[in-house]
Amino acid sequence: MRLGWIDTHCHLDASEFGGPDQADAVRAAARNAGVQRCVIPAVEAANWGAVRTLAQRWGDVYCLGIHPLYVPHAQESDLLALRAEIASNRDDPQLAAVGEIGLDFFVPALCTPAMREKQEHFYQAQLRIAAEFELPVILHVRRSADRLLKFLHALQPASGWRGIAHAFNGSTQQAQRFIDLGFKLGFGGAVTFERALQLRRLVQTLPLQSIVLETDAPDIPPHWLYTTAHRRESGIAQGVNTPAQIPAIAAVVAQLRGTVLAQLQAAAWRNACEALPALAVQA
Ligand SMILES: [Zn+2]
Repeated sequence: MRLGWIDTHCHLDASEFGGPDQADAVRAAARNAGVQRCVIPAVEAANWGAVRTLAQRWGDVYCLGIHPLYVPHAQESDLLALRAEIASNRDDPQLAAVGEIGLDFFVPALCTPAMREKQEHFYQAQLRIAAEFELPVILHVRRSADRLLKFLHALQPASGWRGIAHAFNGSTQQAQRFIDLGFKLGFGGAVTFERALQLRRLVQTLPLQSIVLETDAPDIPPHWLYTTAHRRESGIAQGVNTPAQIPAIAAVVAQLRGTVLAQLQAAAWRNACEALPALAVQA
């Protein structure tokens, strides 16, 4: 098999792409750009079917979970439904992880005491499901690294954790603690901004074996697709990020690290398969 690129985080079913039925054009363009695999995370019970169908259609992998931004509307019964959904799909070779799960302490509405508690409850419950079914996890980390780490330590399964801390933007110390627990760190469009000094320094200094690449499409456009608020006011639309951006993002990461692009490509592929073994099973 020709070694390509993997987008380790891509919301292919998002409405920005026209919904799951219109995502084929986006996925086809990514394949033409050399993106052989996408990891399609879920965000709520309502999209579990869509991410699985898209993954099946394209030989990709999918995750099942409840995203912290969807926790406000989630019910306790969704956790039971998630456990049942994972139990009935556990033997599906395209099920890669429990995700996207985590904690978001950036969005003000999610930071009230009641909502912090509800987020932590959903996060812990989903970690327990991942541990029970020995699945990796895809983590949403936003001003929440220490809190996420605390629960990962407390609930560590016997075989250890695997997975990806996606769109990582924490400190070197926090990065090291995720790596020590068995995680890879996902980097995407944010590293393409010259002013992202701390993040760029992190990408330059981390061991190569801890890095995976992602777009988080349709969010987090790289700088060449980004339209400032000022320019948007004058009618210029925000560029839509897509998984086809992976090779261009990779070129920035390779340049920052002074790595040959082919070496980064091989490492990113290997690292993603280590984090999510389902990627290695797909022929
Ligand atoms: Zn996401």
